[in-house]
Amino acid sequence: MTFNSSRAKHSGLAALRHVQHPPVFSCSSERVRSYYSRRKCQRKVLHNVLEPFAAECFRQEILDFPLSDRISVRGKNASLRNHAERLIAGDYLNHEGASSDNGDVMRLRLTLWRCKMLDVLAVGAHPDDCEIMMGGTLAILKKQSYKVGICDLSSGEAGTYGSANTRRQELAQASTILQLDARDTLDMPDGHIRNTEENRMKLIRVIRKHRPTIVFSFFNAMPRHPDHYYSGLLTKECVFLAGLEKIETGSPPHRPSNLIHFKELVLNDKPDVVVDISEVWDQKVQAVRAYQSQVVAGNDAEQPPKTFIKSKAFWEVFEARSRMAGAMIGVRYGEPFYCEAPAKILDIPASFSRGSNV
Ligand SMILES: [Zn+2]
Repeated sequence: MTFNSSRAKHSGLAALRHVQHPPVFSCSSERVRSYYSRRKCQRKVLHNVLEPFAAECFRQEILDFPLSDRISVRGKNASLRNHAERLIAGDYLNHEGASSDNGDVMRLRLTLWRCKMLDVLAVGAHPDDCEIMMGGTLAILKKQSYKVGICDLSSGEAGTYGSANTRRQELAQASTILQLDARDTLDMPDGHIRNTEENRMKLIRVIRKHRPTIVFSFFNAMPRHPDHYYSGLLTKECVFLAGLEKIETGSPPHRPSNLIHFKELVLNDKPDVVVDISEVWDQKVQAVRAYQSQVVAGNDAEQPPKTFIKSKAFWEVFEARSRMAGAMIGVRYGEPFYCEAPAKILDIPASFSRGSNV
């Protein structure tokens, strides 16, 4: 794997040459020292050194490395190593501490837990949940160059329609349509997802693996489907528990900044925020239609359908709800969400002015 991203060129780290497998990452100590003294900013040094590496891993779509893989940073200065260890440990890497500062070259060996972190992780009970509830928001986030992923707690094996194999293919297709950066399917039993110790550990591992900034999941109040309720409850607990150091999973702890909820299709209260998904509406519909065994993918509705989602009425409710949420903020289509904590508004006029395309 050759390191050739434009970002690396901009960083000026010409000595940053090759990333091999297992990844070895090096730059001259002089170059690091020069950045260190000029910028007076330790974090900048680390970002200049390591972010291009991570960016290249993202570009190459390397989702993760085995824990035994290493990256090496060469440099003279032992104090730099200490700064590096502190900053990296709290950032996206976890150092293993095997280091040597003998001679001219300081070598720092680091354990690379995961190069590819997610900005947003959506957790659903069944393979089509996240597409239906927030497929538009995921598509918008991708347009804004964020890293997004979905974790399905079950593979949906208890569904009335579709074999496990069919559902796997549909899931892959929907993931491609939304250009997801990661998709995990856990083996919790469909129809019996519960907030158990075993299930908490499974989800904590996923959160620590992807280290998302924001997690989305169902609202943790009983809706129609118990799996949705328990998914929300489980996710809420795991978002906190994943940050506890003493819960051992073999990965460093990580606590996402925030948890945002979605609710089942009924829209009977005022959401805290609505995301304008008008420009990606077709993409969302395509992603949901990818689940052909579950929904009416064409014009031919099975008569009579055994599930609501397999009926034509599903699409009417699906669109009506999106139109209703959109109308609340003056746009054509929207996705409603419910927040654990108040949102920090960065652009007041843009956030509160209503569109006219209702
Ligand atoms: Zn579901």
